[in-house]
Amino acid sequence: MTPLLLAPTPESRRVLVTDFDGTLWSHDYYLLFTDRYGGPATLQAWHDYRRGDITHFEAMRRIYAAAAPGEAALRDLVRDHALGPSVRAGAERLHAAGWSLVVVSAGSLWYIEQLLAEAGLVAEVHSNPGRVIDGRLCLTRPEGSPYPSHQNGIDKGAVVRHWQGRGCTVAFAGDGYPDVEPARLVSGELRFARGYLAEELTTLGEPYIPFQHWSEVCGHLTR
Ligand SMILES: [Mg+2]
Repeated sequence: MTPLLLAPTPESRRVLVTDFDGTLWSHDYYLLFTDRYGGPATLQAWHDYRRGDITHFEAMRRIYAAAAPGEAALRDLVRDHALGPSVRAGAERLHAAGWSLVVVSAGSLWYIEQLLAEAGLVAEVHSNPGRVIDGRLCLTRPEGSPYPSHQNGIDKGAVVRHWQGRGCTVAFAGDGYPDVEPARLVSGELRFARGYLAEELTTLGEPYIPFQHWSEVCGHLTR
């Protein structure tokens, strides 16, 4: 597939900062993983995170460390859940309308890079590195990232503020706990939410545009 170059350049004026799992991708890798390989250790890690005892990064690290299904099985979970033609079509619309794409994720580069490459999408991506060691996906913190976060690995809000600071129009799309802060940094007509993020913004009385599929975000921004 022809690569679609969506990473921002010094000339970029419009930037969509997007979460990946459950947002650009209609799946969450940690849920695909836990559905197949989860057990008491993965449940405990998520419980400890929600109770505030451990960070989101540490929860993800412990969940993936809890099973060693082997690299082929870990890759199958990715390959069996491709981004699909609507994501590619949405990205093409963004590109044609002059929007750049920055992916921010508290998950891992390990599967994000595979999925984007398979769809021919070249974006700027900020997430946690991962490597398969002895059949286990091992997450590491993004050493050297300009946007480090103790809680999530990547500070999504800092990414939004970076592009706003450069005078760009910045939109944000997300669905999860780490998306509340970055979503609140952009104006309501550029704030796209589903899932937990939508519920939380409703509770906070903050406006947002609801979506189910990421291509709807692209459609809205390019209408
Ligand atoms: Mg998400």
